Amino acid sequence: MFKLEFLSQELGALREQGLFNIIRTIYGSQGAWFVVDGKKVLNLCSNNYLGFAGHPKLKEAAKKAIDEYGVGPGAVRSIAGTQSIHVELETKLSEFKHAQACIVFQAGFTANTAVIPAVTGRGDIIFSDELNHASIIDGCRLSRAQVVRYAHNDVGDLRQKIAEHKDSARRMLIITDGVFSMDGDIAPLPQIVEVADEFGAMVMVDDAHGEGVLGDSGRGIVNHFKLEGKVEIEVGTLSKAFGVMGGFVTGPEVLIDYLRQRGRPFLFSSGLTPADTAAAIAAVDVLLESDAVVRKLWDNAAYFQKGLKSAGFDTGRTQTPITPVMLGDEKLASDFSKKLFEKDIFAQSIGYPTVPRGKARIRCMLSAAHGKEDLDFAIEKFTETAKELGVLK
Ligand SMILES: *Cc1c(COP(=O)(O)O)cnc(C)c1O
Repeated sequence: MFKLEFLSQELGALREQGLFNIIRTIYGSQGAWFVVDGKKVLNLCSNNYLGFAGHPKLKEAAKKAIDEYGVGPGAVRSIAGTQSIHVELETKLSEFKHAQACIVFQAGFTANTAVIPAVTGRGDIIFSDELNHASIIDGCRLSRAQVVRYAHNDVGDLRQKIAEHKDSARRMLIITDGVFSMDGDIAPLPQIVEVADEFGAMVMVDDAHGEGVLGDSGRGIVNHFKLEGKVEIEVGTLSKAFGVMGGFVTGPEVLIDYLRQRGRPFLFSSGLTPADTAAAIAAVDVLLESDAVVRKLWDNAAYFQKGLKSAGFDTGRTQTPITPVMLGDEKLASDFSKKLFEKDIFAQSIGYPTVPRGKARIRCMLSAAHGKEDLDFAIEKFTETAKELGVLK
């Protein structure tokens, strides 16, 4: 297939630059420990914040749903693929989020590529945090609106950019991640909403890493900042803390009604399977019953971050259970991760171009599934590795 030869050259270039991604295979279910390439390791890489990916209630709900509703939705949602269980999930999520209405998509990624082009178009301007997620960037491109990037979490810069551009915009939309996945810092949403109100811009927050994590029982960033009813568009995912698969948008009735008519992934791609849908409903039910699992997640994060800091590590600017261990040099971070793996810890290094040059790190993802003994083990192995590599004395 010589016409594809250019792809081998591209892959070769990635390998040469150390950017070629080796994809590990996980055996068995997500959890505190799992088997990777034949080796049992402590898992510090997953977004399974609440341990829901292997939760007995979610698994049971998924199995029951298959018996009752089958394995597939059979059609796109807008033709004959909206099953009663989808409606049940949407009602449950809007109640949980204290929102007027909700629409569920196949993934958080799809939710972004549905909602952004639906509410913006040519003549509009989107103000986007420079560290926003790839699916937001793609959604913005699909919208054909002009995109103006503002400095990360810098409301002064956002304000200045809006003031500069407002006269040439038909409508304006500000988009931010709720929690930024590489540093674990939180968007200054109250200040963003203030600026938005001053200029009449709409606000959208993509709370993929805040859903199930921030706010009362994991209701997310809008609840965390007591901004319910003040943010036009909230995007969430069911694939991270909720432990399943899928994405959703919550907001005013008119927005959700419009997305049912004009959200392209809703109209042209089939919806979630009954098993996914039922498991997601069970996830919300577990959170409605008790916030114990969310508190466990935060306790674990505080314990782990304190342990690392007192050992002498720099955990960057995190405000959430996402814990970057800042190392700086790309090669050092990559060697660090390899050594950890030899010591039964699976924690990935993240370097350029995902984060700026010289800001390489090991990113640890905490979970309520971890026990204190797991965290002690991790802190010990991190410290040992740092001494071997000359990072700590
Ligand atoms: C992970 C993530 C997504 C994608 O969510 P999926 O449900 O996995 O498609 C979207 N936005 C942000 C900010 C994310 O972190």
